[in-house]
Amino acid sequence: MLETTDVVIVGAGPVGAMLAAELRLHGIGVVVLERLTRPTGLSKAHALHARTIQTLDRRGLLDRFVSVAGKGPRAGRAQFGGLEVLDRTAVEADVPMMLGVPQAETERILLDHAVSLGADVRRGQEVVGIDGATVETVSGHRIAAEFVVGADGGRSTVRKLAGIDFAGTDATIAGLLGDVTVEDPRAIPFGWHRTERGWVISMVRPDGAGRVFALTFDGPHADRDAPLGMAEFRSTVERILGRPVSMRDPRWLSRFGDGCRQAVEYRRGTVLLVGDAAHVHFPAGGQGLNLGLQDAVNLGWKLAATINGTAADGLLDTYHAERHPVGERVLRNARTQVVLMDPDPRFDPLREVFTELMLLDETNRHLVSMLAGLDVHYAPGDHPAIGHYAPALPGLAKRQRGGQWVYVGPEPLDGAEWLAGQEQMLIRPDGYVAWAGEQGMAEALRRWVTSFPATNRHR
Ligand SMILES: Cc1cc2nc3c(=O)[nH]c(=O)nc-3n(C[C@H](O)[C@H](O)[C@H](O)COP(=O)(O)OP(=O)(O)OC[C@H]3O[C@@H](n4cnc5c(N)ncnc54)[C@H](O)[C@@H]3O)c2cc1C
Repeated sequence: MLETTDVVIVGAGPVGAMLAAELRLHGIGVVVLERLTRPTGLSKAHALHARTIQTLDRRGLLDRFVSVAGKGPRAGRAQFGGLEVLDRTAVEADVPMMLGVPQAETERILLDHAVSLGADVRRGQEVVGIDGATVETVSGHRIAAEFVVGADGGRSTVRKLAGIDFAGTDATIAGLLGDVTVEDPRAIPFGWHRTERGWVISMVRPDGAGRVFALTFDGPHADRDAPLGMAEFRSTVERILGRPVSMRDPRWLSRFGDGCRQAVEYRRGTVLLVGDAAHVHFPAGGQGLNLGLQDAVNLGWKLAATINGTAADGLLDTYHAERHPVGERVLRNARTQVVLMDPDPRFDPLREVFTELMLLDETNRHLVSMLAGLDVHYAPGDHPAIGHYAPALPGLAKRQRGGQWVYVGPEPLDGAEWLAGQEQMLIRPDGYVAWAGEQGMAEALRRWVTSFPATNRHR
């Protein structure tokens, strides 16, 4: 018999897990199909930025992340294109500007959260076929859903099966990542090191253990999937630095590049894309995972309202309309950073001018906010708050824990969580302001939903 559910999410990475949890908050039936039989335990990403941290706070998850976060030795400092002059402390936020959390921990926490809310996560289930919103796994099992979401990473099978173009550019540079122990940590001090031959970025702790990146700019990897050994990793680091560096205990060695691509449609009919399935770019500034988690939080309530029958016409299409430009902007800044990092001395004047600009207060704030996702906003309205992330009003985080709409105003509003206040504001489940001001609330609300999601079908 054909199994049925509301939504099948393909991929139990951090973004798939976040989306599963968001859908469960609204009572949507979710099956997550993951190819791997168990988590790899490896971590590409380590940086969670302020907008993500705000989101986690408004879901009651922040304490769990703080408890596993490492203490960065340069918490206030940030770089753009390898220029380490940004000052994060110049931007005010209600949460830390950055948390250093290994991606494996992020995945674990988000998956635990999704499962605790009732998501059905199945491992060892590679999706190989899609027909409408019916998916087929490699073992021939089929599940019919109302929607399929590809959260299956940069090489997304869902995106390919749906025929969605992944427009952009191939890699031009070669990156190596090594989780190793450096015998003498003073050989590569913590930070970013540029020579005429490339970059070595050291994130090794005083005991020598940690991560080292090596970047060369004379072409991409001939084969990105070719296994990387310690000899090649070490010789590349030494060639860039021009001196010997003893390393041992490789825990993870891998290749990456600056391929930069974005799905031209985040939705095609009953198929949607989130996270790396929708966009890939050079990991400068540690933005990809953060971008993907925000996709999930934007899509979750819209997809839930569509399935629950409370969505206004066209609500689901606002997912692409809102998130594609945000992704496009991240890709643009990642590409800019690759240019700034090109070690060719003819780019030295560019770096010097850019450094001068970055030291200006306004440019510093602009770039820090951009990397943190704090400047993201959607369609504006009559009131300046509309389209922006709602301010951290006392009690708001608690009221949005279940993904509810929140009404701020003098009296309660049926169906929404209520926060007493004189200035009226209606806050979407993803934390952005749908409406604010004096008049026109009902009309503004009807652009999004026909009613608040009072009925949770599965809860
Ligand atoms: C070196 C490096 C450093 C980075 N640092 C940062 C950082 O500091 N901050 C940041 O925000 N981002 C960073 N990123 C980017 C970040 O790692 C990715 O954006 C993130 O992993 C995307 O998450 P995802 O859930 O979309 O995809 P993935 O993590 O790729 O997860 C996809 C999941 O889908 C599964 N899957 C794939 N195909 C199928 C299939 N057919 N059927 C079933 N399951 C399938 C996979 O097994 C996987 O579990 C970095 C990337 C790199 C390379």
